[in-house]
Amino acid sequence: MRCHIKLLVDSLDSLLIHEITHDFVLGHGRDFYRKMEELGGKHLCDLDKNLFEEGRWLYIKF
Ligand SMILES: [Zn+2]
Repeated sequence: MRCHIKLLVDSLDSLLIHEITHDFVLGHGRDFYRKMEELGGKHLCDLDKNLFEEGRWLYIKF
């Protein structure tokens, strides 16, 4: 249970950092993840990548 809550909180953090990263980099290429890791750290960056690869991205697509 605690583990699930932690994952949810981390997911929200990664969502936030993801959106902030778009202030610097458009798109989701190598530059994007480099900047995201710089801003949010490797853990959140990896989490965001995993959610994307698993098709569980939370983001609204424009
Ligand atoms: Zn995005």
